[in-house]
Parts: sequence; structure tokens; C-alpha cells
Amino acid sequence: MADPLDMMRDLAAAERAAAPETDPLSYFLSRDNTPPTIARFRGEHEYLSNPFHAPIVYRGLVYKSTEYLFQAMKATNVADREEIRNAPTWREAKQIAHDIALPEWWNDERETMMMTCLWIKFTQHLPLAVQLKATGNATLIEGNTWHDNIWGHCTCNNASGRYPRCDHRVAGLGQNLLGQLLMAMRSTL
Ligand SMILES: [Zn+2]
Repeated sequence: MADPLDMMRDLAAAERAAAPETDPLSYFLSRDNTPPTIARFRGEHEYLSNPFHAPIVYRGLVYKSTEYLFQAMKATNVADREEIRNAPTWREAKQIAHDIALPEWWNDERETMMMTCLWIKFTQHLPLAVQLKATGNATLIEGNTWHDNIWGHCTCNNASGRYPRCDHRVAGLGQNLLGQLLMAMRSTL
């Protein structure tokens, strides 16, 4: 079986190669040829988002969602991990993780950590794996309005002038790492 990380890089390269020079947004959001694109993880596609409530067990502990687990992976001690794991909401879990010192290896390994979270989610929730598989060849993109161009692709297009990386005609497409990892996960099912 191909290495999921290699597959992810290949997918990212294919995305870049296929994107038309003139109108990157239309490639993501308005393209009417196949394969289809799922460009928002909302409604029937909400299960693709990390905050989606799908409790998972990792090393004997329950996490309410992949968002919780991913944030807890940033902890370097048990107290921080438990504070994140037991946070009342995923937003608070994320905020706590934001305020602690990251492990020095974090930036090199965060995609592997995310893939681990997704692997656990879809192997412990088989109906969700069936749903993911049923997306077929659809391109999966976490289109968002919160200016995340690393895990997703923000569609504000820098309307306010405050987010130059959201001007995709200048800055290129969002990396959409979550979408890439979900597609890599799907290809293993
Ligand atoms: Zn934006």
C-alpha cells in the first residue's frame, strides 16, 4: 500500500498542476465538470470536520472529537493534556492548546498527527467511513471563512484587506491539508 503521506503530496501536486492560472476560486467552487467538489464541511458533510462529535478512544482515553485529540496531541505533560481533553467545548480545547508551548517537533509532524486522528475516527466509526467512501472521487476542501489556508481554503478573498493570504490570485490556493488527508484516508478504505 502506498504511503499516505506520499499520496497526500501527490494529491497536492496534482491540485496545483490542475488549477487554472486565471481563476483559482472557480476551480474550487464553480467548476461544473467531474469529479464534483465538496467545498464546505457543513450539513450532510459536517462529519468531515474535526469538531464533529464522534467520540474516539486513543491510548485508553476518550476524546469527544478529532479536534479534541489533535489539540491534546500538542500537550507535553499530563496536566495540559487533561485540561484540553476535558475542556467544555472544542473551541476552549483549541484555545488551551494555543496557549501552551508546542513540542519542538510539532510543525514537522502535525500532518502525521492529523492523519492519526482521522485514521482513529474512521476506523472507530464505520458508518462515517462508509459515508466518506461514498464521496467517491469528489475533491474534499474545508472551505472556510476563518482565514485558514493551511488546513483548508478561506473564501473571504481578502475582502477586508486584512488577510493577504486569502487573496488566492496573488497568494495561491489554500493548502487544504485536511481535505488532502481525508482523500488519502478515503483511498485506503
Ligand atoms: Zn480569509
